[in-house]
Amino acid sequence: MKIETKCLHAGYEPKNGEPRVLPIYQSTTYKYDSTDFVGQLFDLTAEGHMYSRISNPTVDAVEKKIAALEGGIGALCTTSGQSASFIALMNLLESGDHVISSSTIYGGTVNLFAITLKKFGIEVTFVDPDAQPAEIEAAFRPNTKAVFGEIMANPAMNVLDIEKFAKLAHAHDVPLLIDNTFATPILCRPFAWGADIVIHSTTKYMDGHALQVGGVIVDSGNFPWDNGKFPGLSTPDESYHGIVYTESFGKAAYITKARVQLMRDLGCYPAAHSAFLLNLGLETLALRMERHCANAQKVAAYLESQEAVEFVNYPGLKSSKYYTLAQKYLPNGCCGVISFSIKGGRERAAAFIDHLQLASLEVHVADIRTCVLHPASSTHRQLSDEQLVNCGITPGLIRLSCGIENVEDILDDLKQAFAQI
Ligand SMILES: *Cc1c(COP(=O)(O)O)cnc(C)c1O
Repeated sequence: MKIETKCLHAGYEPKNGEPRVLPIYQSTTYKYDSTDFVGQLFDLTAEGHMYSRISNPTVDAVEKKIAALEGGIGALCTTSGQSASFIALMNLLESGDHVISSSTIYGGTVNLFAITLKKFGIEVTFVDPDAQPAEIEAAFRPNTKAVFGEIMANPAMNVLDIEKFAKLAHAHDVPLLIDNTFATPILCRPFAWGADIVIHSTTKYMDGHALQVGGVIVDSGNFPWDNGKFPGLSTPDESYHGIVYTESFGKAAYITKARVQLMRDLGCYPAAHSAFLLNLGLETLALRMERHCANAQKVAAYLESQEAVEFVNYPGLKSSKYYTLAQKYLPNGCCGVISFSIKGGRERAAAFIDHLQLASLEVHVADIRTCVLHPASSTHRQLSDEQLVNCGITPGLIRLSCGIENVEDILDDLKQAFAQI
């Protein structure tokens, strides 16, 4: 099946007389015929649902669909993108370990890495994703266990050179984890470029309709976890009578451990109803991404032609520093998110946003409806103009997430707002 078809058909195949649409299995528990079978479930020697903190048939179907879209061997849904990043890393780290991360990642992930992981005894070094390999190489330490990057990140909308990062990670026998939220598997499949684990905030394009916060971890099945660096995967887990994940589950060691150990202990598993809604979003993902990309490409070109605009960040523009990388990794489009800066700083950018009528002001991106945000007066409000510039945000920067409306309506809205400032 091609990816558009997988969006509709992967993960759930009704048998004769069964519901055409994925059912919502709204049940915390499952019924068994024998204590012997339950014993096998708890020993991880039989397959089946144990309890809806660990798995559920509705969520399972969505996990299988997302794994199929990314080309992975398995997936684990979580209640947010944040919990997906956290579990994805903690599944291979221990206190005392070190991680290398691209510095251009989602702000929430920066907080998780720089503040919260530190409390778990894990140190994260942030590197410039555009640096030469030798410079990134220098950040590796004997205790480095993972490399993390994001395909396209706010506000620079820089495209990550996945192959460069994969080569560096693999030369040091550690996996590359990619946050593929903005691209979705429709625009980029990081496993094809050497990534080992992919995570998503499904809250964004995958859900698409701003209905529920969620996340997912997808395992390529390609990383050799028994290379001596990952004792959590290759030595006995006492909480399952000494099971060794790499021995019992082979290629599925990582994603199995994430579920039966960390999800069991941390319990951030989505409800069946949330997974049902996510599945509805996934069914139209390919179609929606096409329109998001086409609209953003036209809007970015329009913005670039405006006298009031200082610069536009969109990797689909020929003028973008990331155009070549985008052609390689995102040949079918660069998603709907654009950032651009208005001449005249905070006040003029805020006035522009306040005059918008169709595009709504929201703390959200990657929605079917066009939305905007002014980082300097919201998410980065506490920073001085100088501090803003240091993190790549000019006082006049606006983040515009193009929806799937008719592009003429989006352009008309921008035009009337420009006319008023
Ligand atoms: C929103 C977002 C996250 C965090 O996801 P939540 O679902 O809000 O927890 C992580 N990465 C990226 C790229 C995001 O846009």
